[in-house]
Amino acid sequence: MPGTGCHSGDVRILVVGAGIVGAALADRLARQDEVTVVEAEGPGAGTSGTSYAWINANDPEDPSYHRFRTEAMSTWRRLAAEFGDPAWYRPSGHTTWAAADDAKTRLADRVARLARLGYAAEPIDPGRLRELEPHVQAPPDALIAHYPDEGFVHGGPAARALAERARESGAAVVTGHRAVRLTTEGDRVTGVRLDDGRDLDADLTICAAGRDSPALLETAGVALPLVDPSEPGSAAPCLVATTSAAPGVVNGLVHAPGLSVRPAEGGGLVLEAVDLDAGVDESASPALIQEVGTELLARARVVMPGLTAEVAEMRRCVRPLPVDGYPLIGSQRPGLYTAVTHSGITLGPHLAVLIDQEVHGHASPALDAYRPDRAGS
Ligand SMILES: Cc1cc2nc3c(=O)[nH]c(=O)nc-3n(C[C@H](O)[C@H](O)[C@H](O)COP(=O)(O)OP(=O)(O)OC[C@H]3O[C@@H](n4cnc5c(N)ncnc54)[C@H](O)[C@@H]3O)c2cc1C
Repeated sequence: MPGTGCHSGDVRILVVGAGIVGAALADRLARQDEVTVVEAEGPGAGTSGTSYAWINANDPEDPSYHRFRTEAMSTWRRLAAEFGDPAWYRPSGHTTWAAADDAKTRLADRVARLARLGYAAEPIDPGRLRELEPHVQAPPDALIAHYPDEGFVHGGPAARALAERARESGAAVVTGHRAVRLTTEGDRVTGVRLDDGRDLDADLTICAAGRDSPALLETAGVALPLVDPSEPGSAAPCLVATTSAAPGVVNGLVHAPGLSVRPAEGGGLVLEAVDLDAGVDESASPALIQEVGTELLARARVVMPGLTAEVAEMRRCVRPLPVDGYPLIGSQRPGLYTAVTHSGITLGPHLAVLIDQEVHGHASPALDAYRPDRAGS
């Protein structure tokens, strides 16, 4: 097992966290190893259950990361097929548009660059938008683009399904208990202490605790460069709205200027707008949260003029945001492996495949750019 200080073969592995990253890992590793998952609440209860959860490789800026993400999209397709194309996996396609001149130029450039990379990206006309999303209205002079291979998941059910399959493969899934610290012998991490005082020992402890990872790693003196959500102006804290039932109002992911929308798990819509998160921190007042909900709904009614749904729930959440934006994946100490990333919904299952290989002695060059100790992180 490169860099972890363990031997390949049947290994006692402890996964801390059952969001999409930890649950996908447990599902993969439990096929061969003795796996225990420790989850403070329940699978999918963290960021994964609130995420906008768009599966994509929609940024051509870094071709190598783009390719990594297209591979992750393929891994999702294979995983969903194993589950018999479950309701929590929605390969719905994604439609977006730009209205202002500079935004149109940027969108046209993005579509052209993505298409050159072999990614399914195409400009469409208003008639095609009406076919794809009959209840959605773009300005008449908008530049509209469609990405047919993108989609989304319902993060909570997806994490629960993966954790359940891990359990069926023999993993022990301990829920309702927090790992309060890593346990160590010299330099080696030997497991975790739980909040009830129990010690769980392991040959390899994998930290997949999302936004809470720095706090856990710090207990063994290990640093992780995640954006601190308590810093003023931090981009990590955010608000996501779900609406009451809005059947058939959108079919897939829609990104309008100032609004992201997609179908929600319970028949409503998920609404999000990154610019409205600017003033949000972890102590956001109920008045501010309500104000953001009202604005999201107002924007939604412009994009979907027939929308009668109301905001049913506002959820506050924190993005696990690496300082340079890229995944943080790899061994940080003997006996300790870290798997923390933004875009964890897109990347989780693919990371699980690659980490499974690393745990069993096959270093994955695809992960080399994303080691937690890389320069600049
Ligand atoms: C608003 C928003 C929109 C997003 N949009 C997208 C998107 O469109 N596409 C995309 O790919 N990604 C997106 N992301 C990012 C993505 O959601 C995350 O990267 C991903 O959910 C992280 O998954 P995770 O399993 O690492 O973390 P989590 O889902 O947070 O799981 C970590 C789990 O660990 C548990 N835990 C924490 N500490 C401990 C401990 N000490 N002991 C035991 N258990 C512990 C928690 O209870 C939690 O369940 C978005 C995020 C947000 C907030």
